[in-house]
Amino acid sequence: MAGCRVFLCIMFCLVAGFAAPAASMTVSVSDVAPAQGVPFIVSASTSGPVDNLAVVWKGVSWPMRNTAPGQYEALVGIDLAASPGSESLVVEQMTEGVCLRRNETIRVVEKVFPVQRLSLPKTMVEFDKATLSRIEKERLALTERFSRVTLPVLWLFPFLPPVDGYRPENFGVRREINGEKKSPHTGVDIRLPAGTPVRSIADGVVALAEEQFFGGRTVTIDHGGGVFSVYMHLQSYCVKEGLRVSRGETIGAVGATGRATGPHLHFGVRVPGGRVDPSLLFALPGK
Ligand SMILES: [Zn+2]
Repeated sequence: MAGCRVFLCIMFCLVAGFAAPAASMTVSVSDVAPAQGVPFIVSASTSGPVDNLAVVWKGVSWPMRNTAPGQYEALVGIDLAASPGSESLVVEQMTEGVCLRRNETIRVVEKVFPVQRLSLPKTMVEFDKATLSRIEKERLALTERFSRVTLPVLWLFPFLPPVDGYRPENFGVRREINGEKKSPHTGVDIRLPAGTPVRSIADGVVALAEEQFFGGRTVTIDHGGGVFSVYMHLQSYCVKEGLRVSRGETIGAVGATGRATGPHLHFGVRVPGGRVDPSLLFALPGK
């Protein structure tokens, strides 16, 4: 596809003092100039089976999934608030005395997100000490979940939209409330009648299921390897932390809990690298 570059890397490694031929490796990236908020695929082909192939991205090592003999892939992305410019991405075999290694340069392109200006009553934007402490505790709970890099990698292409009637709005919108800049909107909103079933976009394990101040009834699913999906403002959820869920399994229902002006699903996705537009996930050309 456009913007795709392929590299051939033939290397040799020394094992116990003997020169042993190592596998050769080809690496390709589905988008070498992705914009802020864009997920992309890193693929590797090796001439023989290799263990522990990983992508080093944003200073963290993320496991690659073995899709077929000698075929590996990882899903990574550009955080919606990442700085534009060049970033290094490395594919390497994570064993002692690295045998296979390939370096790729990713050029992060700036995207212009819409700005939404809202005027809200003070009671909706100013909180007492106890509420602020609750908000911070809940934010930390989510951050802790997102820092996990679990195995096995459970997600598979294609991902499944979380609802029937998937009409996403507002990804990355920069919000200004009463003239003050707030955090960007990190997911999409899908307006649907309360009670509409919400399902998991891929296999995974429930990493969080709790009622939060902003998000209301919130479910986070860990799909393995640093990929997470988040579902907020649920009327109800029918899962608990630690439960294994399958792609398409109902996890709850659309509602308006937490800070919501009407029934809708707030849906977000995190991949290695940060918060990406979940709608782009459904269009990725995985194997
Ligand atoms: Zn939202």
